Amino acid sequence: MDPREELNALIVQAKEHLRYFSELGVTSIGERSKPAVAVLSESENRVTEPAPPIAPAPAQQEKPDPAVIAPPQFLPKPTTTMPTKKETPAEPSLFSEPSLFGEISIPAIEEQRADETLEDIRRDLGDCKRCKLWSTRTNIVFGEGNPKAELMFIGEGPGADEDASGRPFVGRAGQLLTKMIEAIDLKREDVYIANVVKSRPPGNRAPEADEVKACIPFLYRQIATIHPKLIVALGNPAMQALLDTKLGITKMRGEFQPYQQIRGIWVMPTFHPAYLLRSPDKKREAWEDLKKIRSFLRGEMEP
Ligand code: URA
Repeated sequence: MDPREELNALIVQAKEHLRYFSELGVTSIGERSKPAVAVLSESENRVTEPAPPIAPAPAQQEKPDPAVIAPPQFLPKPTTTMPTKKETPAEPSLFSEPSLFGEISIPAIEEQRADETLEDIRRDLGDCKRCKLWSTRTNIVFGEGNPKAELMFIGEGPGADEDASGRPFVGRAGQLLTKMIEAIDLKREDVYIANVVKSRPPGNRAPEADEVKACIPFLYRQIATIHPKLIVALGNPAMQALLDTKLGITKMRGEFQPYQQIRGIWVMPTFHPAYLLRSPDKKREAWEDLKKIRSFLRGEMEP
């Protein structure tokens, strides 16, 4: 590459990193990030780090029209390779034991577009008592966002804030997720956000296999109805449930995988924002994943 082009590419990349870090509330990158001081939040019993300073809200941008966005001038076109599944042991889960969902088997692939609406699915879910989580929850957290979203984010299950409000990803991890969405030039309202289980596991433990089995048909139906181009699986439980794998997020993140239930829909596993709050040094890898997601949605790269 011409040295000037190379320099320009580096500048563009550096600017992107700075913007992401500033949107995530990181005010200085001049020193190595300090290890997060873990504290147990009283309301959540989940390990969190003290809140970072709030960065000024980024200017809202219109959702980019993939048809009119020019490819980046200096960045080399990224390429992706489909990883072959290796029989390596699972990474320790970010939240619990390595594989929660080993015995779930995903039904046969069917190219289909559901003719039911999200409201139909919500009605069917009702005041759900299909698993034991009903007895400790306050609110069902069904999911929210654009019913025609091209991009879905799937987490593991509601935490305390979500249980109290009935809305997904509204606590600290949710605030970081919102910043991640905005970092790829989208707004929260553009995407659809849901969880593997719709009722809060007590004490924020990971959902158990029977709970996932009872709840995941509703997520599959939400996905079939919304029919996004891409599903971002946030963390091990979401990835393992959506891809029917025992592999860990560290191995799988950053690579597009086919969603096995509906041809043409892709899954991108990446780190859960709660994990990024605890391990800020992983934000750089998460940003690489986010850039792939943005390029894919803009039609600049194939999975
Ligand atoms: N973590 C999740 O996995 N989902 C939420 O909705 C909130 C936190």
